[in-house]
Amino acid sequence: MKLAIIGSGIAGIACSIRMAIKGHQVHVYESNSYPGGKLSEFYIEKYRFDAGPSLFTMPQYVEDLFSLAGKSTSDYFEYERLSTICEYFWEDGTTLTAYAEKKMLAAEIKRAFGIDGDVIYKILKDSQKKYDLCGKIFLENSLHKINTWTNLEALKGLMAGPRLDLFTNMNSVNTKLAKHPKLIQLLNRYATYNGSNPYQTPGIMSVIPHFEYNIGAFVPKQGMFSITSSLVQLAKDLGVNFYFNKKVEQISIKEKSVCGLIVDKTNIPYEAIISNMDVFNTYKKLIPGIKAPKRILSQKKSSSALIFYWGIKKTFPQLDVHNILFSNNYEKEFQSIEEGGVYEDPTVYINISKKYKQDDAPANCENWFVMINVPNNQSQSWDEMIKVIRRNTIEKINRILKTDIEKFITCEETLDPRSIELKTSSHLGALYGNSSDSKWAAFMRHSNFSQQLNNLYFCGGSVHPGGGIPLCLLSAKIVDDNFKIL
Ligand SMILES: Cc1cc2nc3c(=O)[nH]c(=O)nc-3n(C[C@H](O)[C@H](O)[C@H](O)COP(=O)(O)OP(=O)(O)OC[C@H]3O[C@@H](n4cnc5c(N)ncnc54)[C@H](O)[C@@H]3O)c2cc1C
Repeated sequence: MKLAIIGSGIAGIACSIRMAIKGHQVHVYESNSYPGGKLSEFYIEKYRFDAGPSLFTMPQYVEDLFSLAGKSTSDYFEYERLSTICEYFWEDGTTLTAYAEKKMLAAEIKRAFGIDGDVIYKILKDSQKKYDLCGKIFLENSLHKINTWTNLEALKGLMAGPRLDLFTNMNSVNTKLAKHPKLIQLLNRYATYNGSNPYQTPGIMSVIPHFEYNIGAFVPKQGMFSITSSLVQLAKDLGVNFYFNKKVEQISIKEKSVCGLIVDKTNIPYEAIISNMDVFNTYKKLIPGIKAPKRILSQKKSSSALIFYWGIKKTFPQLDVHNILFSNNYEKEFQSIEEGGVYEDPTVYINISKKYKQDDAPANCENWFVMINVPNNQSQSWDEMIKVIRRNTIEKINRILKTDIEKFITCEETLDPRSIELKTSSHLGALYGNSSDSKWAAFMRHSNFSQQLNNLYFCGGSVHPGGGIPLCLLSAKIVDDNFKIL
């Protein structure tokens, strides 16, 4: 059967592999000149930058694609586990190295905060318990199929309700478990992994550290973009055709079924379509005649990000791959984002891939990816805001690292919510589709298939089970599990 995929984001690529393995003829249409969507790369002079994601978790979902195809992962893609997950810095001079090894982490918590570091075992056990109780059911299955809910696993998940902290927020869970304000702040940070607010998102989100500490934080040896490039190579080896600079203009419909795509004003017939385009824009732009599920599409969207990509002509031994310079007032920072603005003392995340991939920057230089959490695009005066945020970010870096960073910036690019939407078609430039700030958020994501049109499927960060590389890869698996032509 001949089918088309709209978009070559990570979920679109994963779907193309899965569909090719099933024996289908697969065509992927991508409006950009390159694959990967948010998971892409670019160069400024001799500096290479991964454009979006910098943290790689759950590599087994990538491995699954190679093994399904009967290939050896290492022939295409190599990665390794980080022994240090993140370096944390506070303005009062406190620092903490988040070691992957739990005994070392416990000792480091004791050193940095002066509390019993063994508290981390309890915290990570709670996180794992939440995953064991409901992770599989909520992340690996369609929530829109009866058979998902009619087995023992589902019953276990539903019975576990009260233990999942659904009716309290993440900050309350962390406050109860961690006690020390800096450790609470560190754990609250995990809400940002799906663009939510720790003071609003339900306590179940304290499952996130389980992925990073119990399973691991990893780096692809050739940079994050090698996740995209290796999977595109696998797809091509399986016979998938990619068409770049080809923006899909419309999905063709006959009676109650999709029957093709319009590209360059020409109708190309297909028996099935998988949209990796943000679901909001799929309805709005590609099937405007179809009644959209308003309640789902009008949910609050996740936060976005402002990124400064800097070539730095200096090295900073106190920094590692992942670094966080914390705000003095985390609650105010999230309150500002809720109000559509950015707090004057923002938390600054610095990622330096040169720390593990030497050729990403010239000798004695580093490639800095400097990210600040910002609200999604509500037509703020971004140009003015970016000037202020840039100044505040530089001052924060200078205070904490005791430097004058501007002196060392040799080249620069910026990505903001407007350009994220422009480059990837993500509604409002939200990084993760719908926000996860409501306890019903999991049920308010669009399903992986259309309930109105036969043979139309959806994958990617804006639909179930959500954003982030691992969940996008799972969305492709759910499409695969439920794929049938009517
Ligand atoms: C700055 C940033 C940092 C992030 N950090 C992390 C992280 O550390 N770890 C992590 O796991 N995740 C992270 N994420 C989230 C992660 O990048 C995304 O969840 C994931 O990459 C989204 O993949 P996707 O499959 O939904 O497609 P997208 O990446 O959204 O790509 C969709 C593709 O579809 C194409 N397209 C859209 N409309 C059309 C059309 N009409 N015709 C043809 N093509 C079309 C677009 O051009 C694009 O290439 C981050 C995201 C950003 C932006």
